Amino acid sequence: MMGASPLLIDVGELTVRYGRHDALSRISLALPPGRITALVGPNGAGKTTLMRCLARLIAPDEGRLMVCGLDAIANPRAVQQRVGFVPDDFGLHRGLTVRQLLHHQALAQGLAPRVTIPDIAALLGVSQHLDDRASSLSRGWSQRVAIALAILHRPPLVILDEPASGLDPDARDELARLLKRLNAEGMSLLVSSHILAELEAYCTDMVILEDGRLVAQVDAPTHAVPEVIRVAVADQAPLAPRLSALGVVVVRDEGRQVLIEAAGAATERATLLRQLVEAGLPVCHFEPVTERLADVYRRSIASGASAAPSLPTVRHVG
Ligand code: ATP
Repeated sequence: MMGASPLLIDVGELTVRYGRHDALSRISLALPPGRITALVGPNGAGKTTLMRCLARLIAPDEGRLMVCGLDAIANPRAVQQRVGFVPDDFGLHRGLTVRQLLHHQALAQGLAPRVTIPDIAALLGVSQHLDDRASSLSRGWSQRVAIALAILHRPPLVILDEPASGLDPDARDELARLLKRLNAEGMSLLVSSHILAELEAYCTDMVILEDGRLVAQVDAPTHAVPEVIRVAVADQAPLAPRLSALGVVVVRDEGRQVLIEAAGAATERATLLRQLVEAGLPVCHFEPVTERLADVYRRSIASGASAAPSLPTVRHVG
């Protein structure tokens, strides 16, 4: 199903204008397949606009837009067939039953409905609602049906705009499990949300937009191995130069405290600590730091595109 490009999403200098307002301003973004990527940013950052562009529901004003290896500007229909899109309002025709919705979608995608609909309904757990009208479904069930419609044709890329919004905690847990399952079955996912703590449960990486610009592309922090250590010493002399002189990689100089690159496993961290002490540093604090997505997000938004030194997991753009 994929084209020649190894990238699932390859966007260059993408600009979308509403009147004189740039909703997206020269966004460049490259994503390989296989991920569950979170798309985050403050209200009005341009998340929905970018998602609608990638699903080729709107056309950009300028820039390159490659999706699933295809030029999405020249081939909108081909891209729509390779992308499943779940809008924030789920976009269901309220007067139709779930079965009718699935049947219509199967016809629109040129699929054999009798084979596909029970399978998809079972996969999404909506079998018991097949004969219910969309208007009678709760938000959680509407969301499941919307996802079923989006994945009916087994697209390599599924884009979900705020899928967790308005769901109760159990439904959000179920959504996280479902998204992981779809990913394990080979679909790449792009998910927008304001609920960063929940994105952490399933996202592999995060794209941060602010005011129509790409602020950062961030790999999700790995919790198994902390990537940085916060070091503080008991004296007043600048610490960062002394650490650098010892060959330690300084990730961020916070003055009295310095973040340094972690040395991997616990035994290696113990060796590093011993080396610092043996070099005469009066170490009074040595703490592995595991960042959360929300921390990385706040730091990226606070520092913006002109960020000063940042943790290595953050690739600031611009
Ligand atoms: P939210 O988190 O609030 O959903 P968002 O990050 O999804 O926001 P967009 O909906 O993409 O942001 O909007 C980006 C900018 O474009 C905003 O300034 C918005 O007001 C503007 N905008 C979006 N859609 C339109 C439209 N159809 N016509 C005019 N301006 C629009």
